[in-house]
Amino acid sequence: MVSQPPDRPDAAQPRGPAEPATDVGGVSTLSLPGIEFLKDAVDCHVHVCPHINARTISVFEATRQAAAARMRGIGLMDNFGNSSGYAALVMRELGHLGVDVFGGPILEPCAGGVSPYVVKIALDYGYGPGTGARFVSLPTHHTRNVAISEGRSPAYIEDCFHVPLSGELQDATKEVLDLIARRDIVLNTGFVSADEAARLCEEAVSRGVGRIIVPAVDHPEDMIRDIVATGAYAEFFFFGLTHATHAVGANVEAQINSPSAVSLSETAARIRAAGPDHAILSGDLGIAVLPPPVEGLREFLLTIRSAGFADDEIRTMVVRNPSRLFKVGQSASA
Ligand SMILES: [Zn+2]
Repeated sequence: MVSQPPDRPDAAQPRGPAEPATDVGGVSTLSLPGIEFLKDAVDCHVHVCPHINARTISVFEATRQAAAARMRGIGLMDNFGNSSGYAALVMRELGHLGVDVFGGPILEPCAGGVSPYVVKIALDYGYGPGTGARFVSLPTHHTRNVAISEGRSPAYIEDCFHVPLSGELQDATKEVLDLIARRDIVLNTGFVSADEAARLCEEAVSRGVGRIIVPAVDHPEDMIRDIVATGAYAEFFFFGLTHATHAVGANVEAQINSPSAVSLSETAARIRAAGPDHAILSGDLGIAVLPPPVEGLREFLLTIRSAGFADDEIRTMVVRNPSRLFKVGQSASA
């Protein structure tokens, strides 16, 4: 990986009909194997918003690099808040590059939690009609599923979000699903267990939610089949296959957060369980120890191809499916 030039404040960038950047991470976009997979690709899982630990690049540079690779869209995810404002800001400054940048909230406690109030604000948080949240994610790290895997205390686990496997969902969760359904945006089920995700999908569909993505990298194949049978897409991202799973990062409670790794053969089997028509490939990149999102996505897609997936299957999973799910190119700001 060629070293990155320091990220420059965007105020210093030229305005007007600028040419897209001609390189990704200092490497010519024309010379890299697999770069053709990125044409019209949508990476719906990009972590380049401001953060409590180091990022590779900013939201502006991520957009320029996506444009240089001729990508169609990127979805900003921020575990600390709603990213639709950042997305709207990027579109106002760099919309002429032709990349549809979109965002939404992850309902972690620091972002306001699983709250209809938070979601109502996010729906219109941007720079005018069509620039609000394109997705709403239930909690990622602050779930009982993750807390148990991290060996947290019983009191901490009790406090975390979960989905009851029988009986009624919590009122706030049901209200959040209803708001998502009414605006016809995407529900991301967050890092709940496979059983919880399946229950959420059924409940969400029954309440009118028509767009669902389920992070499925860790889920058993039979559960993935049940989940996609509800009409949801199963998401598989690069992060768990990378050396970032060997790096440790302190979270806000100063405890160690060490995500588990998955093998390529496990990942390939789970993608096959979903089927390419019901799977989405994304990066989950932005952390400083990994390549910038565009370069990381290229590496991921080549890795998936090495596991036996056809070029057209890969295009389905990184172009057609995420474009359709997130209505890429259809918003007022795109
Ligand atoms: Zn993520």
